[in-house]
Parts: sequence; structure tokens; C-alpha cells
Amino acid sequence: MEKCQQSEAACPHVLVLPLPIQGHVNSMFKLAELLALSGFKVTFLNSEHNHERLVKYTNITAHFARYPGFEFKTIPDGLPDDHPRTGEWFLEMFDAMEMKTKSSLIEMLLNISPPVDCIIGDGFLGFALDAANELGIPIIYFRTSSACCFWVYYSIPDMIQAGELPTREMDRLITTVPGMETFLRCRDLPSFCRASNMTDADSKIQLIVKETRKTPQAHSLILNTFEDLDGPILSHIRTKCPHIYAIGPIHAQLNTRLREKYGESYDHFSNSLWELDRSCISWLDKQPKQCVIYVSFGSVTTTSREQLTELWYGLVNSKKRFLWVIRPNSVTGKDGRGGDVPVELLEATRERGYIVGWAPQEEVLNHPAVGGFLTHSGWNSTLESVVAGVPMICWPYFADQQVNSRFVSEAWKIGLDMKDVCDRKVVEMMVNDLMVNRKEEFVKPAAKMAKLANESVSVGGSSYCNLDRLIEDIRLMSL
Ligand code: UDP
Repeated sequence: MEKCQQSEAACPHVLVLPLPIQGHVNSMFKLAELLALSGFKVTFLNSEHNHERLVKYTNITAHFARYPGFEFKTIPDGLPDDHPRTGEWFLEMFDAMEMKTKSSLIEMLLNISPPVDCIIGDGFLGFALDAANELGIPIIYFRTSSACCFWVYYSIPDMIQAGELPTREMDRLITTVPGMETFLRCRDLPSFCRASNMTDADSKIQLIVKETRKTPQAHSLILNTFEDLDGPILSHIRTKCPHIYAIGPIHAQLNTRLREKYGESYDHFSNSLWELDRSCISWLDKQPKQCVIYVSFGSVTTTSREQLTELWYGLVNSKKRFLWVIRPNSVTGKDGRGGDVPVELLEATRERGYIVGWAPQEEVLNHPAVGGFLTHSGWNSTLESVVAGVPMICWPYFADQQVNSRFVSEAWKIGLDMKDVCDRKVVEMMVNDLMVNRKEEFVKPAAKMAKLANESVSVGGSSYCNLDRLIEDIRLMSL
């Protein structure tokens, strides 16, 4: 990566503003580190709540101290300190941020030194675009979730106009999202589109459409994907937003660039908002090759006690080994690990399972013992699995996950979609299909996609070149 040869003051100063939830923060940190690696001055704007947790659970200060121009600042997320921030809380946060965070952002931008040359804002934070426009600072949007879902969101007004929304026929094909006419069903639309009438869904839909349709007003759009995965969808998006940088998978891109700079001994920043339990790696070390199914539903999903029991029986009855992340407070009702869990489940888990509160997921997915991933289809998890070549069983919870899981099973053919079902027999069957009976069907396409993903972030690959282009374009903004 080309280094900034000028004095620090003449280097571009980029302000990075994530939506303060784990998946978005993850990708933004990676982008921020990529910019810092190229010599940019980076100010990373965390919510006060997240920053406190990052300081508590990670080596954030020590890690970023290696980049002389890297600085953290915090702003409120607008919610009270004791707000639980689980489930669909972030929709509430949008309003709170619009009201309370925008003014803090403007004040900061007016007083910051050296002045900011460019803002990279989460593509859901329209107030940042408004603030940037008011102050005449270029803003680049980063949509950290999937390109396919961005395109579905963008098409919502067309679906409504064509009478395809609202709908109750979940298996009917949607015909008004260009590029997805042959496989996207109502069931696969983002969770926010689900409602028997649009009045129920209205406020969420309106918010999402408003934020999404603002995107062409930004200078350009960064997407965490790569041409070989999402080429056809990117072509459609370009008809509305011509300036796109597809630089993903961003975690793999960062690994490439760190390796270039530090060799194989580079260290990772684990930007987890929960305490990492690394004991699962020692457990994986003792398991045979490709025999473990890794189960994790990300940072937002909650499961009911009944769902937990069905999943647990399904895993145990499949007789496969499993590593399961059950995040603290993610089970609605009693604690998922104790209480009235049937003895047979606990015994079987002791025999061939392992449960942690939060795992080093990238490392887990690349561990030789892992042969499958039962996932909620969050976009980061999906890309991490793609890069590791691990086939998936998708059990989407909300937002883009319903679309992502359809792409995994129908467009990319690298897994199974268990959408809308949580039944022990189905879980058992799918785990056995993925890990044994239909293994060959998924292993080859997953390995092929992993190869393409890794090539895209290697020197000369599409995402590698797109990141260089992004860096150069930001550099030009600072001249
Ligand atoms: N993750 C992790 N450890 C876990 C579970 C998840 O490090 O035990 C990370 C995972 O690697 C991913 C992120 O948390 O980068 C979750 O993001 P994703 O977009 O998949 O889902 P979200 O949390 O936004 O629903």
C-alpha cells in the first residue's frame, strides 16, 4: 500500500463513524485500520457505551497506539445508560441519534484539528450525511451489511408500487427486485418487510427506505463484498450509485495488508464487545478434522427458551460434535446454560459439545476441526464463513439475514436455509445433511468461493485494487 510521503499535517484526515452495533463496528474498525496502514490520520468516533466496553474487554488502546495518527473520540448514542441494547433496540437508537448525536457531531467537526478531509459514515446514519453537507465535508457511505440486501431495500418503493408489499403469501416470488426475480420469495425479504399490513411495518420501512435512498447523495459507496460473489447485484446498484468501492471481504483484506506490512507475525485487534473465551480453541484442538459444527447467532439475535431447547436437541440428536456460542443475556427467559435444561442434554454436551459466551470467531471458522457453521446469517459471519470455505446452515433472525440466507442457499449454493423453522428434527436432519449426507454438494462450491474471496484481496485482485482506488481518491480530497 502506498504510504503517505507528506508531513502528518498534510496527510488526509478521515473521520470514521459507525452505527454503534457490533457487526457494523467490526467492519468500520477494519476499514479504519486499513486507512491508518496507508498513513492516514484517522479519528474513530465510538458511542460512549461501546467505547467503555471496548476498553474493558479489548486491547484497543495498545493496538491502535501503533498508528501515530489514530485517535478515538466518543459521542452519545442517545439512549439512557441502563438501556439493555438487545433485540431490535437499534431502531429506537436511530431516532435518539438523530436528535442527540447530530449536534455533537457538528460541534466536533467544527472544532477538530486538523480539519477532517472526508467522513466515512455508516450508510444508515443519514444525519451524518446531513451534517457533512451542512459543513461542506465530503462523505463516503459504508454499508457494512450485504450488497444484496441493500439492493432489496432500495427496491422497496417499487415492490409497494407493484402491490408485492404487503403480502401474506410467504412463498410467492418477488418480481420487482432486478436480478433476483427467479429466487427471491416474500419469505426472503428483510424481516422489516414482514407484516400483515404495511401500517405495522411502516415506521421501520419508512426509516430504511429514507436512509437507503439517500445513498446517491453521498460522494460514493463502500461495500463489504467482492465482484466474484456479488458482480450481478453490484451492476444493478451502480445504476443508482455509480461510485462503488467493493473492497471485501474486509477482514481478509485487512489480513492481507497486515501481512504485507508485518509479515506472518502480525497481530489482530479483536474488537469484541464481549469477553472472549479462548478455551474453545483448546477444545477444538482435540477434535477430529472437519467434525465440529460451530453454532453462533452473532451479537444481536435473541432466542426464546423453546427455540434454545429445539436447537439443543437437534444438535445433540445429530450426534455431531458442536461448539456453541450462547451470548450472555441472549436467551429470553432463564439462563440458557443452567436452570431446567434436561439432564440428557447436559450429559451429551459434556460428551461432544462445548459452550462459550463469546468465541474468537474468525479463528474458530479457520480451525481444521470445524466442518460447518449454523449461523444467523449476519453479513460478517457469512463473509467469514465464505473466506474460511465453511458451508453454512442459515437460521436468520432479522434485517438483511433473511436475504443473505437465500443467497447462501440458492445463489451461491454453499449451504442450507433453515429460515422460519426451529424444530429439533429439522435441525438434526440439516446438521447431518451438511456434515455428512450432502457434504460433497456444499464443500466444493464453498472451497471455490473461498478461493475467489482470497484472490479478490490479493495483490491485483478486484477488492485489493478497489481499496487502492479508494485510498487514492481520499488522498485527492485532501489536496
Ligand atoms: N463474533 C465473534 N464471536 C462470537 C460471535 C460473533 O467474534 O462468539 C463476531 C463475528 O466474527 C462477526 C460479528 O461478531 O464479525 C457478528 O457480526 P454479524 O454481521 O455476523 O452479525 P450481527 O452481530 O451484526 O448480527
